[in-house]
Amino acid sequence: MARRAQPERTCVGCRRRAPAGELLRIVAIGDEAGHSLRPDPARGMPGRGANMHPDPACFAQAVRRRAFGRALRITEVLDHGDLAEYLDAPTTTSGQPDRARVASKVGRPT
Ligand SMILES: [Zn+2]
Repeated sequence: MARRAQPERTCVGCRRRAPAGELLRIVAIGDEAGHSLRPDPARGMPGRGANMHPDPACFAQAVRRRAFGRALRITEVLDHGDLAEYLDAPTTTSGQPDRARVASKVGRPT
């Protein structure tokens, strides 16, 4: 059986190209409440998909750049909660730095 070269996709986070199999497919599921991002590890869900390394760092970059909306052609606000949970990433939907974490770094001298 001849092996074909895997198709390459661009990660919406770091913008590097990688074989599709190394990237997590992400789709947006819409309902009355709006759209939310869902991981599609089996790459079987219908509709437009975005591709990203399954890495919280790439997720954070994609959120900051609003790359999901662009990749998925969705102009409304996207809920990143499910995807953040899947990636075990901090939820920073607003693109603001996590204030609690920044504050904790200021800590008192020991
Ligand atoms: Zn990436």
